[in-house]
Amino acid sequence: MAPLGMFGTSGIRGPVGETVTADLALAVGRAVASEGHERVVVGRDVRDSGIVLSDALTAGLRECGADVIDLGVEATPTVARAVGWLEADAGVVLTASHNPPADNGIKLWTRSGKAFGPSQREAITVRIDRDVFSLASWDGHGVSRRHDGARERHAEAIQAAVSLEDPPSVIVDLGNGAGRLTADVLTQLGCRVRTLNGQPDGSFPGRPSEPEAETLETLMATVAATDADLGIAHDGDADRMVAVDETGAFVPKDVLFALFAREAAGEGDRVAAPVDTSLSVDDALAHVGASLTKTPVGDVYVAEAATRDDVVFGGEPSGAWIWPEETLCPDGPLAAAKLVALVARRGPLSALVGSVETYPIRRESIEVEGKAELMDRVRESALERYADGDVDTLDGVRVEREDGWFLMRASGTQSLIRLTAEARSDEAVMAVLEEARGLFEATR
Ligand code: MG
Repeated sequence: MAPLGMFGTSGIRGPVGETVTADLALAVGRAVASEGHERVVVGRDVRDSGIVLSDALTAGLRECGADVIDLGVEATPTVARAVGWLEADAGVVLTASHNPPADNGIKLWTRSGKAFGPSQREAITVRIDRDVFSLASWDGHGVSRRHDGARERHAEAIQAAVSLEDPPSVIVDLGNGAGRLTADVLTQLGCRVRTLNGQPDGSFPGRPSEPEAETLETLMATVAATDADLGIAHDGDADRMVAVDETGAFVPKDVLFALFAREAAGEGDRVAAPVDTSLSVDDALAHVGASLTKTPVGDVYVAEAATRDDVVFGGEPSGAWIWPEETLCPDGPLAAAKLVALVARRGPLSALVGSVETYPIRRESIEVEGKAELMDRVRESALERYADGDVDTLDGVRVEREDGWFLMRASGTQSLIRLTAEARSDEAVMAVLEEARGLFEATR
């Protein structure tokens, strides 16, 4: 069985038949139901391995008395949002997001559309680790029923959240994933929609599932060669969304973040963003009189911060966008519709992109031994060296400088410290980077 602490902020993910097995899915199902969740929505992404995992998970849930509402293959945000719509207590998605085809995973959702938090994940892990489940008696098993209306409900919610005059022409690259809803809802909103890699296929034959400039060459070329006003791309489970402008250029994720943030926020509002977010977003918000609430890196932390009253938008530069008024789950199809609406109102997209100031960023990885102890020392000496207000230790060590900032964080999986520096000029970014290196060397 998987070891204690197997749940990361993105749930469990790993190779099918190694970390991720029917045995594990059964145990997660049992644990979720044993934690008192009586009505659970279950969905999966397009990977065929999800069929067996979903069967095992469902057996575990029902065996411990929970009723299951089975959505089949749907985008992660559809499943997460359906928990509330179907008056369930929890949601489970069998997905490995943008990972390669050989992987799968399990992600758990609360009724608010937020992923399970640390204490909930811990409770599940402890039950699995100790094999402590509340198995129901012979006449107490839960029932399972199929539900087909969630996608339609999601489409209605998106249509209610955006208004579109003069709908643009859009090319949607689904990456063979579960994001069909985006093409459907944009068509319903009046857009001319063409799809790329629209056939659901968990072997991801069209392109790698992570949507980035390097994996979206076909989308970029197609948008450039046609009269499309923009291109949209999702990862495998469609919680992430990125874009290509009408010239075929990939829109940097920080720029997309700045565009969404400044559209959502007004005077006095706040936007939640992880500590590695670009100055582009700070500056875009300063223009509208809004400001940032910083969070640890990870969309779960952004969602947590987005529950605060004054937070109107949250973003993760990986392509996860959260409008808390709609849902706390990063919702790729909603983000697609919001961007299309923005382009319809204020486009072309290339001009919007051009209106966001961008700055030089430098990234380095330093191989280390004992990264945790080293980060402790970096934290200590940063607090000695700099004014209190300039040091943020929310996640790693982030230091504000005159014209920029740097961040040092231990890699989650490798023996590395990652160093990021950003500043408003090439000269300044080199100075900031030197300072970061100096701080690091002084603590070795
Ligand atoms: Mg994803």
